[in-house]
Amino acid sequence: MQLQSTCPYCGVGCGIVADHQSGLQLSGDKEHPANYGRLCVKGSALAQTLGEQGRLLAPKVDGQTVSWSEAIDTVASRLSAIIAQYGPGSVAMYLSGQLLTEDYYVANKLMKGFIGSPHVDTNSRLCMASTVAGHKRAFGADIVPGCYADIELARCYILVGANMAWNHPVLFQRIQACKQQDPSRKIIVIDPRRSASCEGADLHLALKPGSDLLLFNGLLSFLAKENQLDHDFILAHTQGFSEALATAQQQAGTIEQVALGCDLTAEQVAALYRCFIDEPLTLTLFSQGVNQAQNGTDKVNAIINCHLATGRIGKAGCGPFSLTGQPNAMGGREVGGLANQLAAHMDYSQNADIELVQEFWQAPNICRQPGYKAVDLFTAVERGDVKAIWIMATNPVVSMPEADRVKAALQACPLVIVSDIVSHTDTIACADIVLPATGWSEKDGTVTNSERRISRQRALLPAPGLARHDWQIICDVAAAMGFAEHFNYSGPADIFAEHAALSAYKNSGQRAFDLSGLMQLTVQQYQDLAPVQWPVNSKYPDGASRLGSDGQFYTASGKAGFIAVSQQQAADVAADHLLLNTGRIRDQWHSMTRTGRAAALLQHRAEPFLEVHPQDAEQLGLTDGGLARLSNSLGQMDARVRLTEAQRSGECFVPIHWTDQFSSQGRCDVLVPALVDPVSGQPALKQAQVKILPLNLHWQVWLMLKPELDEQLWPLCRSSGYASKQKQSQTVLYQLELAEMDLALAAGTGLDAARLQLWLSSLGIQPELCSQALTLGHYRAAAFQAEQLSCCVFISPEPLNLALEYLDQQFNKELSLSERRQLLTGRSRSGEAQSAVICSCFQVCEASICAAIRQGCQSYQQLGQRLKCGTNCGSCIPELKALIASELSLQGERL
Ligand code: SF4
Repeated sequence: MQLQSTCPYCGVGCGIVADHQSGLQLSGDKEHPANYGRLCVKGSALAQTLGEQGRLLAPKVDGQTVSWSEAIDTVASRLSAIIAQYGPGSVAMYLSGQLLTEDYYVANKLMKGFIGSPHVDTNSRLCMASTVAGHKRAFGADIVPGCYADIELARCYILVGANMAWNHPVLFQRIQACKQQDPSRKIIVIDPRRSASCEGADLHLALKPGSDLLLFNGLLSFLAKENQLDHDFILAHTQGFSEALATAQQQAGTIEQVALGCDLTAEQVAALYRCFIDEPLTLTLFSQGVNQAQNGTDKVNAIINCHLATGRIGKAGCGPFSLTGQPNAMGGREVGGLANQLAAHMDYSQNADIELVQEFWQAPNICRQPGYKAVDLFTAVERGDVKAIWIMATNPVVSMPEADRVKAALQACPLVIVSDIVSHTDTIACADIVLPATGWSEKDGTVTNSERRISRQRALLPAPGLARHDWQIICDVAAAMGFAEHFNYSGPADIFAEHAALSAYKNSGQRAFDLSGLMQLTVQQYQDLAPVQWPVNSKYPDGASRLGSDGQFYTASGKAGFIAVSQQQAADVAADHLLLNTGRIRDQWHSMTRTGRAAALLQHRAEPFLEVHPQDAEQLGLTDGGLARLSNSLGQMDARVRLTEAQRSGECFVPIHWTDQFSSQGRCDVLVPALVDPVSGQPALKQAQVKILPLNLHWQVWLMLKPELDEQLWPLCRSSGYASKQKQSQTVLYQLELAEMDLALAAGTGLDAARLQLWLSSLGIQPELCSQALTLGHYRAAAFQAEQLSCCVFISPEPLNLALEYLDQQFNKELSLSERRQLLTGRSRSGEAQSAVICSCFQVCEASICAAIRQGCQSYQQLGQRLKCGTNCGSCIPELKALIASELSLQGERL
């Protein structure tokens, strides 16, 4: 039997087909308009992330496993006691773009209508709140005017602050396919880093971080100077043009001014502007590089201003396009998951909206003022104003700025409730009550992707253990708090119908978000719901691809608004500091609770890393492959150094994904100050300043073990020196670096084997087979249980190139004595060592790819024919192209 569902990762919202014929087989849905069958590497590896290992299977209260009835009663009674003593504003919820719309809807309704606390915010605040605010300022509503089909119709793609090749790979592949079909199409990347998205781009503007507002203000000025404005559109359908243009001209009146402010050449700036003029079918796609800034909202409006000025909005093949981060960031916006929203795209700015929602919900305690946005919410927890917080499907101890402060605030908070799918997260470590939720493949509901398309996520597997759906948990707590009558839903279809009905309630066209066409769905129709773009109403019975095509917007005047925005002076970078940029990587998702379970996804980038320009590295004493410690007054992070000229000098980059569950000190957001955009409340997650020092730890340790030992050993191993953890196919690998004192070794260069054995014993490991090359300073050992390898350890003062895949394969089978001895060499008999995996789908390593290039492969297609790399999801194609370029240039140098 086949079922269609949707990928749970990024906002592209790819359709998936699940086939149960021989186990669960997942593939891209050829009929889904987001991906037409394509999946990126994360989507392709979804099946590897399933299974009960590491899942949270039963509710826990104060560390004790309890029944669901006890858990629900405890949540309800503790919340009620706090509300009775301190008022409803003392309790809060922090939600997630991972939740389904139906979960989100009931959570928001419970808090804002029944408990009476407006303090409901979501991790979507961290990724697209600036776009929401920018859309509302420009269009009067949070509408995305375009659709994915515009990609095939466009002739120029401007990617701003968006590494689409890694973060929205399937859309990037659609762009690349267009470019391949017609190479005269243009791809322009605006990003301080030369990211994978720059492979094959016509132009890369490596601008000064944060100067994109100036760049787009310059474009607006240039359009006016070159007489390229659409005066008819501006006059008939917009307002505020003169002020916006005058402000832009003040700062960015000439190309030279812009080039200077953005740290670009005048030729680069002119090339961008010329391209925008020459190609009316231009799509400007933007993401976190725009949103996650103190002027994120202004940057969004600077982009929209240029499209309004040329009338390129709501038309086929052009427009500004926000790429949302999460699978249901848009759904959260629709139900009012943000603290400044109410529900169904209504907010607190108009009394009529508040009355309307109150009336529809029959809510006894409707909120009338916005609540705390994410950063303010955790500050209120820290102050003690919020005394109870219920966190669902997210990990703020990792993802919030000043993450150590957030951790301390939660540790001190009287009541922390966490609903999650896994048993160990950095946030669960702070929880009093832990509730097991169903995850992707087990739950049923809807999500909305970046192009306003609502798709079904369908349950493919039974819930593990006692896990329950989030909407059920919330409704049970609501009932236990006395609101049963209003939360008596029969299932997600019932909730969706109410959500759709609220969007339609007293909506005579003034509210863009309108699902009136879906509010009468039967359960079967909901089950069968095909992907559809809202609004779905009498005007658009089959949904709407584009909005604003008729020049009508949702402001009071019906006209779109230009917003006058100006570039603020960037803060100086302190002496001895680098500017820190943070972001995602190709194969991981958020805090790795799901992707960290797939061995294949940890081969591309296995550890927390720091990308830094070679010139900076030389000054700082950093070496490629060595360790570095990043620090500032807020905290510190340890990471493996990667030297790259893709990084501007004076700046550096670290990934956002590593947590205490996978590293000793890999949480980058401990370094990020809690500075926010004053309009949107979105934190500026890309502008920390850090000092960097080499972290010189003498002993390198590789410890590979059976997964059963992980829970016991990880807390012991991660507490000293440097540690990172990677799941392998059958085992778990710890990569540790320890100072001599940590191992309590004797002075000198040699190892004291007895003390090493003592250290291993302290971890509960009794090595049976040892190989000591004391003069070389090497120590190797293996431990066995019931004749099978349970762990092996390699210790050396210098890097060892171990054949990790071979070592992993030695577990779960009986080994002869000679095989045991071979194992301790760290290599298979063929002597094959390990290099970084470039193609995660087919596990093709860099070494094999480089060898194939040296043997004559000169295109990624030829590499694909020989090694299969790049022939499944295609996410690695930009890196294959980069390897070809670098190998061929090396060959040229050798000649
Ligand atoms: S692009 Fe990849 S991560 Fe995003 S929805 Fe599609 S398959 Fe999932």
